[in-house]
Amino acid sequence: MTDLTALTLAQARDALRRKEFSAIELVDAHLAAIAKARKLNAFVLETADCARAMARAADERLAKGEAGALEGLPLSVKDLFCTEGVRTTACSHILENFVPTYESAVTANLWREGAVLVGKTNNDEFAMGSSNETSYFGPVVSPWRRGTETPLVPGGSSGGSAAAVAANLCLGAAGTDTGGSIRQPAAFCGIVGIKPTYGRCSRWGIVAFASSLDQAGPFARTVRDCAILLRTMAGHDAKDTTCANLPVPDYEKAVGASVKGMRVGIPREYRMPGMAVEIETLWQRGAQWLADAGAQTVEISLPRTPYALPAYYIVATAEASSNLARYDGVRYGLRVPGRDVIEMYERTRAAGFGKEVRRRIMLGTYVLSAGYYDAYYLRAQKVRALIKRDFDECFAAGIDAILTPTAPSAAFAIGEKSRLDPVEMYLNDVFTVTVNMAGLPGISVPGGLDAHGLPLGLQLIGRPFAEETLFALGAVIEQAVGRLTPPRWWETS
Ligand code: GLN
Repeated sequence: MTDLTALTLAQARDALRRKEFSAIELVDAHLAAIAKARKLNAFVLETADCARAMARAADERLAKGEAGALEGLPLSVKDLFCTEGVRTTACSHILENFVPTYESAVTANLWREGAVLVGKTNNDEFAMGSSNETSYFGPVVSPWRRGTETPLVPGGSSGGSAAAVAANLCLGAAGTDTGGSIRQPAAFCGIVGIKPTYGRCSRWGIVAFASSLDQAGPFARTVRDCAILLRTMAGHDAKDTTCANLPVPDYEKAVGASVKGMRVGIPREYRMPGMAVEIETLWQRGAQWLADAGAQTVEISLPRTPYALPAYYIVATAEASSNLARYDGVRYGLRVPGRDVIEMYERTRAAGFGKEVRRRIMLGTYVLSAGYYDAYYLRAQKVRALIKRDFDECFAAGIDAILTPTAPSAAFAIGEKSRLDPVEMYLNDVFTVTVNMAGLPGISVPGGLDAHGLPLGLQLIGRPFAEETLFALGAVIEQAVGRLTPPRWWETS
């Protein structure tokens, strides 16, 4: 029998409808794969019973010819999405025993169309990080390896989702992206991930990090699979006032569509001093593949790019300090008693939050404080407006999409950067944060392997709500590169 976990989501969807196998067989194959891959630490909760019940219900609907768009397809969900009756922790000690009484809008959309939840995936605590090392439940180990030595990070913060998809533990996954947390782990794990336009998916029921930047989006092994997932995840939701009331196109139609005549910008400011030669080569190859498919590549300028990273770390920490004020030992999760309420707050928050989260709360509180608001927060907001204007001007001049590398390097070893100054880690986000600051859609597609055999990603940035352009261009790169598959060492060693 063929390995059901090696199918693409689209293949599994079609085969289920042709009754080549059942949803229960499909989910059991994935649960067995998950059980064999525990050393990756990709899941913080496996939901086998719930998965089987959902698969049985899916089989009934399939038998009656009432299949939803994702009927019977095993997915995993970042542990930042609230799932009703299923523990949701944000990978923080402070929410370690939190069981939501409601379902996030995005995951509700998935279940409504028949998808099956196989587990909640590991992430950086409150989605703060680029390596999945800040999780209270320990780091995720990448399915990729450089030789057989030191384990590598899967990227972050949605590292568990990316690793689970790359290791064939599910057909797709839901993640969130505030400054790169879908695109960078997708690049590190050799899969596809898209952060849609801000407002494309509802944020309702997602543990908030930085509300003006957070967006949900899918991971999958192909561009088509991402397109299929996004169609179901996206859509208007009255419970999130920043969620756009726009129709959701059939994104799958864009996969394989012609890109002839599209104008793709190559921003010169992304050519950072000291950039690795292989990143430069990857980028040039990407531009060539798009040109070969009939797109026109044009050098463009986004002059405020160098200010994006510092401005992001002001805006994101400011919003985080405000969002995380709710974890006070009264309403949610952990409570460490004290002599009075102030001491209870202090003890709870000191014990409940990890080091990176505390660092960001302090930084965010500082930039919002009366004496420094104008100098930091207000300034950063002005810079943000200018960054957005750079993009607007390019799009107004006829650029359809922008091509950049997704990250400045391939995956690094666990411990390699977290031991250093935190800014070393923040530098990973240099190519992705601009997209969140401007609220634009961005996709990461595998661009090939580096000299050590590790995946590198290419990022495409689009106009607001033009995700279709990204799927069309992304499919061209995918066609040129083919699928990247990690060696399955975790099953044997
Ligand atoms: N790595 C970035 C940060 O640490 C982005 C994280 C994210 O997108 N959630 O803030």
